[in-house]
Amino acid sequence: MRKYMMAGNWKMNNTIAQSKALADGLKAAAAGFSSKVDVVVAPSFLSVSTVTDALKGSGIKVAAQNCCWEKDGAYTGDVSASMVKDAGCEYVILGHSERRQYSKESDALVNQKTKIALANGLKAIVCVGELLAEREANKTNEVVEAQTTGCLSGLTADDMKKIVIAYEPVWAIGTGKVATKEQAQEVHAFIRGLVKKLYNDAVAQSTVILYGGSAKPDNIVELLAQPDVDGGLVGGASLKADSFAAMVKAAAEAK
Ligand code: PEP
Repeated sequence: MRKYMMAGNWKMNNTIAQSKALADGLKAAAAGFSSKVDVVVAPSFLSVSTVTDALKGSGIKVAAQNCCWEKDGAYTGDVSASMVKDAGCEYVILGHSERRQYSKESDALVNQKTKIALANGLKAIVCVGELLAEREANKTNEVVEAQTTGCLSGLTADDMKKIVIAYEPVWAIGTGKVATKEQAQEVHAFIRGLVKKLYNDAVAQSTVILYGGSAKPDNIVELLAQPDVDGGLVGGASLKADSFAAMVKAAAEAK
């Protein structure tokens, strides 16, 4: 009952022209799978409008990588959820570990951002995941539970229709060290159980949970074969149209 999603996080890469070229390449290579898989790309704020235009008619959706926790006003340098929506985004990525690490974003802040994103008609891809030291101290479930509970606090079962959860072990992001399929499945099942506890079984069964962390064309197939892995949030491998398209194709063929 869940549709797979493959979401590409372009991070702080690509000029506007480079973003357009990547979007054009992706449209040619991956649009054919967009009825079977939700395909999403997240360019920088500056490239969102150009990428949205380039992808028109392809079925490929656009996400922002962040938004402000406040509606509008004196927040120099920030971008509001309504601006993100206005520029053509359907999704926003929130709580990415790089924002937690470099901008000290807390679960409470991610929760505020999630609420304002939903209030402005966006869907949110909410990221959670443990540090290496936390995994080694057997604290993975504890950390992921606190993050998930904190980020979803106050959201209703109806709100959950617009939430995608991305499990991204921090030690796997951009390191080339992918989680094993067993490690991914274990945490994904734990998160789904948590969503069941917080809401109900129907919400848990319909919530899409993505894996992120050094996912590539050559390891995505076994990850997607896990019962609770519903797709990927992909950084490095989403920066080339052919590798990201290969992952989209793998997701289309996995279901
Ligand atoms: C990410 O940015 O969310 C990510 C998973 O990056 P990478 O695929 O490069 O590890």
